[in-house]
Amino acid sequence: MHSLAIIQHNIPLADKNWFKTGGTAQWYADPRTAAEFADALVYAYAHNLPVTVLGEGANILISDAGISGLVIRPALKDIFFEKITDAILVTAQAGVSMSDLIEQCLHEAALGLEEFSGIPGTVGGSVFINIHYFEFLLSNFLVEATVINAQTGDIKKVNHDWLHFGYNYSTLHEKEYYLFDATFRLKRAESDLEVAYARGRRKEIIRHRTARYPNARTCGSFFRNFFPEEVTLESQGKKLIYVAYYLDKIGVKGALSCGGATVSYQHANMLVNTGTATSADIITLARTMQQKVYDAYGIIPQPECRLLGFSDYPLLIKK
Ligand SMILES: Cc1cc2nc3c(=O)[nH]c(=O)nc-3n(C[C@H](O)[C@H](O)[C@H](O)COP(=O)(O)OP(=O)(O)OC[C@H]3O[C@@H](n4cnc5c(N)ncnc54)[C@H](O)[C@@H]3O)c2cc1C
Repeated sequence: MHSLAIIQHNIPLADKNWFKTGGTAQWYADPRTAAEFADALVYAYAHNLPVTVLGEGANILISDAGISGLVIRPALKDIFFEKITDAILVTAQAGVSMSDLIEQCLHEAALGLEEFSGIPGTVGGSVFINIHYFEFLLSNFLVEATVINAQTGDIKKVNHDWLHFGYNYSTLHEKEYYLFDATFRLKRAESDLEVAYARGRRKEIIRHRTARYPNARTCGSFFRNFFPEEVTLESQGKKLIYVAYYLDKIGVKGALSCGGATVSYQHANMLVNTGTATSADIITLARTMQQKVYDAYGIIPQPECRLLGFSDYPLLIKK
């Protein structure tokens, strides 16, 4: 083991996720190089320890019992720029926050990623779920990535197609590989004015989001939208797939709570820890919402938020 990151025992995770709830990591490592990341994965495989890779914890709920096995939180923060004839390629490591990445890109006059302004998370978590905002998907910009095999630690370059992006999906969901870095192809600004416009757009998106959504102690959208085949309701000839529509109709916004967890008054699909919530409170609240939608519409919303460390699946399963 030539470059194993220090593995620590019993590390609290409540300060490492956006809900600010949950127990401890049985084992914990924050690798700083590709070799340390690979060695931590190989070590876990060799010792039969389940692996959980964390970013900023902006899309997860950790059980109050914590996570057994090895939790890896890559402290990989480098960003590289390469100017090519008609574009700029930016490569960012898994632990870079999207916010830092967007700022650096604007500084280098590389445009496009500012559409994701105000979405918390790291490059690793964002590629994993293929973050989206209105019509923009992160996969629109990704051209290449470096991934690490979970069993062998082998590091390889993969292209866009290898990641099989979909709505809330990438190959990384299969947990055979973890992301080390990602390369995005961005527009090269032709003038300072174009950069100033992109900065203005970033500000405006953040202002708009702050007015519409809670931005602390939440995981953003808790439930994913429905797939067209899951719903029967239609509006103007189109399937009503937006889960927030159904949650709005059952009247939970700002009105339903459990312990310290409540449904945001700003958005029916956002659950918020008011300060004293446990993860069990959040689960009970989410289950109640599922049941209410089922009673009214016969369909059960399913989480977009990843549930980590639960020995039994704690929510209602799809019927
Ligand atoms: C206030 C708020 C608003 C949000 N708004 C939006 C929005 O508009 N659009 C949107 O798409 N999302 C939104 N989200 C969700 C969240 O921002 C994204 O899912 C984000 O990408 C999570 O990144 P993270 O680093 O925090 O990942 P985490 O929450 O730490 O992890 C999420 C998943 O990614 C996996 N993962 C993390 N790093 C790696 C890696 N290196 N390799 C492989 N897998 C990895 C984890 O194992 C986990 O399964 C919002 C969240 C919040 C809190």
